[in-house]
Amino acid sequence: MCGRNCRNLNHELLVATRNKGKLGELLNLLQGTHYELLSLENVDIQHEVEETGDTFEANAILKAEEYGQMAGIVTIADDSGIEVDALDGAPGVLSARYGGEELDDQGRNALLLKNLANVPDSKLTARFRCVVALSRPNQGTVTFNGSVEGFITRNPRGINGFGYDPLFYFPPKCKTLAQIPAEEKHSISHRGKAVHKAVQYLRRMVQDFGEISS
Ligand code: IMP
Repeated sequence: MCGRNCRNLNHELLVATRNKGKLGELLNLLQGTHYELLSLENVDIQHEVEETGDTFEANAILKAEEYGQMAGIVTIADDSGIEVDALDGAPGVLSARYGGEELDDQGRNALLLKNLANVPDSKLTARFRCVVALSRPNQGTVTFNGSVEGFITRNPRGINGFGYDPLFYFPPKCKTLAQIPAEEKHSISHRGKAVHKAVQYLRRMVQDFGEISS
């Protein structure tokens, strides 16, 4: 068995998130990059990077760079969330903490519906946004964007996915994202689109240079 001494750092990719729903999706989406995928647990990083940025992009860069520096390998992180037009784009970058740290996904969904109680159905437009940041030791950071447009439904349904998926109605499929199987969600979702661009970039890096980190 190959121990820590024979790790090939040029072919390891740290997937830097503690959100189990996102980690599952990211690991799935990054299959086929020919990188060995590692989680924060695999590299024994306990530190929590604070999301102090005002934008998805700032937070994604912050996480990719801080975790990347700690691990010393190519690192991918995303920042994502849901924007509801009737709430001026809230919850936005605060999606994971909407209503406070003590709420779980169900509590946040209930709060969102409560805050939309007086909004007419026709004004419930919303989108998920995702920015993926890829940091490379000594080579800077690149970012990739993805979004998906839909509506908030007052009738949550579906058991797939995580977070706000049961509330997010996607008109082309006449379903919420939580009613759509994982593979199908990847092909339409904000994260799927952004990670797809990152994967293309990683493949090009391997083709051009044979490796990505210094
Ligand atoms: P963060 O990117 O770790 O700040 O967390 C983003 C938050 O946005 C998640 O905790 C979810 O609440 C929400 N979110 C992001 N992407 C999705 C998704 O694909 N489905 C449902 N909720 C999501």
